Amino acid sequence: MDLRTQTSLFCGALALAIAASVLLRGRPGRAQWLFAAFSVDIGLWYLAQWLYLDGRAQVWAHFTAVLVVLMPQLALHLFEAIFPRPGPSVLLRVAGGLLAVMVVLVMSPLHEHGLVRAAVLLYVFGLFAAGLLSLLRRGESSRSRVTQRRVRFLVVCGASAATFSLADFLWFVGAPLPPVGAVLSLVFLFVLAESLIRARLVDLYDMAGLAFVSTALAFSLAGIFYLCVVILGGFQTMYLNAVLGGIIMLILFDPLRAKLDAYINRAIFFERADLERAVSRARQELARVLDADEAIRLVLGVLEDCRRATSGALFLRDSLGAGFELGGAFGAEMPVRLDAASLRTLAELLSERRVLDLSTIEKQLGLVPEDRTERYSSNELELLLLSAENFGPLRRAVCVGVLGEQKDVLGILLLEDDRVEDAFSADDLQLLESLGVLLATVLENSRQHLRLQERARLAALGQMAAGLAHEVRNPLGAIKGAAQLLADFERGEHSMEFVSIILEEVDRLDRVVGSVLDYGRPAPASIGTINVRTMVERTLSILRSSVEYQTRFEFSAPGGELWVRGDPEHLHQALINLLRNAAQAMDGSGVVSVAARKRSDGLLHLVEISITDRGPGLSEQARRSLFVPFFTTKSGGTGLGLAISQRILAAMGGRIEVSSVAGVGATFTVVLPAADEPAGRPVNELTGGTLLTPEGTRADAGGLATP
Ligand code: ADP
Repeated sequence: MDLRTQTSLFCGALALAIAASVLLRGRPGRAQWLFAAFSVDIGLWYLAQWLYLDGRAQVWAHFTAVLVVLMPQLALHLFEAIFPRPGPSVLLRVAGGLLAVMVVLVMSPLHEHGLVRAAVLLYVFGLFAAGLLSLLRRGESSRSRVTQRRVRFLVVCGASAATFSLADFLWFVGAPLPPVGAVLSLVFLFVLAESLIRARLVDLYDMAGLAFVSTALAFSLAGIFYLCVVILGGFQTMYLNAVLGGIIMLILFDPLRAKLDAYINRAIFFERADLERAVSRARQELARVLDADEAIRLVLGVLEDCRRATSGALFLRDSLGAGFELGGAFGAEMPVRLDAASLRTLAELLSERRVLDLSTIEKQLGLVPEDRTERYSSNELELLLLSAENFGPLRRAVCVGVLGEQKDVLGILLLEDDRVEDAFSADDLQLLESLGVLLATVLENSRQHLRLQERARLAALGQMAAGLAHEVRNPLGAIKGAAQLLADFERGEHSMEFVSIILEEVDRLDRVVGSVLDYGRPAPASIGTINVRTMVERTLSILRSSVEYQTRFEFSAPGGELWVRGDPEHLHQALINLLRNAAQAMDGSGVVSVAARKRSDGLLHLVEISITDRGPGLSEQARRSLFVPFFTTKSGGTGLGLAISQRILAAMGGRIEVSSVAGVGATFTVVLPAADEPAGRPVNELTGGTLLTPEGTRADAGGLATP
């Protein structure tokens, strides 16, 4: 058996194996069936050729010819199935018409004639080329770049396979070529088969790269062997040849593979470069950004532009860490807020791994633990999937952690490409991880910048307020003194009324000036631990003793002691503001209920103090402007109480929540992070806790001024 005969047998078996591999993996669709038929046709063709060459029986020559005629027909149907078109295909109809003519020609006694052979050659390669061109045109018209590249990839493989097969046909026509074409065209057939099975484009590239590199290496090895045999002699020196060839390959393997890899990557695999370019562009531009919103817009914009993802979203943790707010998104519609508690498992894994490909989790769950690439237990994987459900349409996305210095999750970037499965390769994930790191730096810088800006703004406001206070309070004092003197002299009913108006308004102006001073330049904070129960009770007793209100304040704090950290004087002021508002909402009568309790929000332990009145509740306008400085609906109000309280609580890492039902009442709830019970004896009367000086050293807190 000569080399060509052997190659035919070898290629025939290989083509049949490729056909079987496509059918055996997964549930075959129309394209897979057609591909299998095409491969079987090629396989049988090689086998028939082998039988013909081996035994020279004429019947095999006919058989071979019919199989060749069928080949482009199957290929055309396959191309149609890979990327179907809406209308009927003219090409298919033309090919169908030619089929009958060709079969008649190759079965006729004239089939050995040179002209008939040339016609068959033209028919096969003409149709094949037309099919590939039409596939390419349809692919290019697709709106999805991934589809475009996929089709381009298939066309390059198909054209390469055809070109190498042509080399074999040339041998049929009489040109003396070694049977290399057959082997190479089978390599491309294998790559085509894989591209039908694998949906993930990047994997395809890896696989094709590997196939090309291995083939090139195999041919190099064969070449070296060939040279050895020619130079050193025949089969007797086989041992020496093998050793020599092996050593040369060992030396050349790495540099050769690196060179080939780089070349192939440059030549066809530009897809991966898109994300790399996008990330490096984002990196450059982020260096100049200080604003968090702008950073989010920029990152999402760049990712959307590079078109490697169909949807993306960025969630940012809120100040208390109780939830994640949607910072921006493209593609799919996303929820505006996610609860931190429901994302707990995901956040924990994210802070450890930085990037999670949620699309692989479900698959991992289907595997036995030993086969899993992610080393998690089934329970962990299930919890993770449950967490991921919160992302709605992006529940199978790639999830990139934006981690703070303590590896806490500041934000979550989600990216998904719903056109392909496993859209992001390991390299892509690494790129995205680096983007997450950069984004974290920008976010932290932006927070710091905002804090500094706020401080500068308040310092300016404080200075202005101090000047204003000086300018306004002096004349106010004079007006008040004069009005009081007037009150002593004047006894007329009308003048008395006017004088009391003057006095009331002067007091109100004085309060406004005082509040502006507080808002602009609050007293420096002295941080310490505060026993919430003691603090609330003392505040209530001060209010109860005030003649201003007949309101009854009821207080309940079930459970053990509650501790928070912060400036007790400031917290006291915030509580007074809220309690006064509640009493005023009920015109100074009725019952205000105050309750303090523990609350947990995800990983956070919190303490809440709720203040419920049975007043009129909040109007729509009040609800919108509650915390806006100077918003007030009261004739004697300053509109600064809630604004000041909110600032105080924000500085303690807390917030105020508001709920209200018109005609039933309103509840203002102070939420603060819980603190540990302090060791040692309580030293402060108001707070029931210890007090630290601003520098952070523990000190006796006696002498706190009562309001
Ligand atoms: P002020 O009490 O001086 O008006 P605040 O900032 O404390 O300033 O309150 C702003 C406004 O919010 C009030 O004028 C009132 O309209 C509304 N408000 C506050 N607390 C309540 C409450 N418990 N019930 C109804 N409305 C309230």
